[in-house]
Amino acid sequence: MSFSALGLNDFILRALADAGYRLPTPVQQQAVPAALAGRDLLVSSRTGSGKTAAFMLPSLHRLAEPARREARGPRILVLTPTRELARQVADAAQKYGRHLRHAKVVSIVGGDAYPVQNRMLASRYEILVATPGRLIDQVESGRIDFSRLDVLVLDEADRMLDMGFIEDIETIVARLPRERQTLLFSATLDGRIARLAGGMLNDPQRIEIAPPPAHEAQIEQRLLVADGLTHKNQLLDRILRETDLRQAIVFTATKRDADALAGDLEQVGFAAAALHGDMKQSQRNRTLEHLRRGRLRVLVATDVAARGLDVQGISHVINFDLPKSVEDYVHRIGRTGRAGQTGVAISLVGRNDYHQVKAIERYTRQSIPVHTIPGLEPKSVLARPAPRKAGQGKGGRDWHNSRPAPRVRAR
Ligand code: AMP
Repeated sequence: MSFSALGLNDFILRALADAGYRLPTPVQQQAVPAALAGRDLLVSSRTGSGKTAAFMLPSLHRLAEPARREARGPRILVLTPTRELARQVADAAQKYGRHLRHAKVVSIVGGDAYPVQNRMLASRYEILVATPGRLIDQVESGRIDFSRLDVLVLDEADRMLDMGFIEDIETIVARLPRERQTLLFSATLDGRIARLAGGMLNDPQRIEIAPPPAHEAQIEQRLLVADGLTHKNQLLDRILRETDLRQAIVFTATKRDADALAGDLEQVGFAAAALHGDMKQSQRNRTLEHLRRGRLRVLVATDVAARGLDVQGISHVINFDLPKSVEDYVHRIGRTGRAGQTGVAISLVGRNDYHQVKAIERYTRQSIPVHTIPGLEPKSVLARPAPRKAGQGKGGRDWHNSRPAPRVRAR
């Protein structure tokens, strides 16, 4: 099925041709016609599936029609959990709307200066992409007129709930016209999402796009067993010197570890930098720009900072520390294998990580093979910890029911 068969107008088709897209992805094939028909949508899909275009293209299509009334505010509002994702959605809107006459994009995220945002909000624009926390401030200060809003998009709704944005979202939605289209995208459509959708969507069409990135063969997953921190660092060094590695994201458990490890890697000559939530937004933007332009080869990041990150050069994702949840694992490895390319996801695990690895394997319904690197073979093996004996402390830890595991520090 071609893009033109989906019913999109010529301005948008031209932008898609400019972007080099030839065929719609499965989520686009299903969501675009349904949204063009005016339905509310409840869509399960992951980053990497082409979901941004799936909601942005039909929304932009509506901009060719005159607004329902003369006003200054947005016609399309997209809420996203993180600033990085907001930027990517804003970039996508600009890319797909470049031939439309009135498709100006404004992005409102925490960390940006208020005077700049206030100026942008005072201008005429059609698309507003925002994180809920900052948008609330702006809504409450009365700077946004929603009276001509056509479409509300909730992007990565599950993540917004995880991050505690529910009240902010409800407050914002209460200010929007009742007569609007609402498109909700989420990695999972569980009970929480159903409850959220119940109050905000009108007889939605449900679209489920099955496999998360981990199920797709394009990301090859591997485990490397490490005997300790020194061994982990040696393994990482060797991986980063592999010739087929274009760019890598290395995930650490904490912001401090991200800084420390990026510093260590830089010292031994890698073009490396850290990305985490304690950095100023301008610093983060600069780092991401360097990554996109290929000036950085290794990005050392925390989960939240790398959320939604979409850089096509990322050939490897390396879990220096395993993530706190299986969902985070899937999100992390989805940073590679973007736009149909292949990727490698390597997790450096210690013998205590057995339960985490099994939980990931259960969730992704795949077993992850253990690899070794010649000359750096581990002495330990990844095996189920011995069962507890009466009177002894806990032998293994249960990933889901215990406090977060103590993390290996990078230094
Ligand atoms: P998303 O799931 O929205 O994060 O998109 C993942 C990546 O796929 C982005 O880099 C998009 O630019 C790209 N993409 C989206 N739709 C298509 C398509 N139909 N053909 C080729 N690339 C696409």
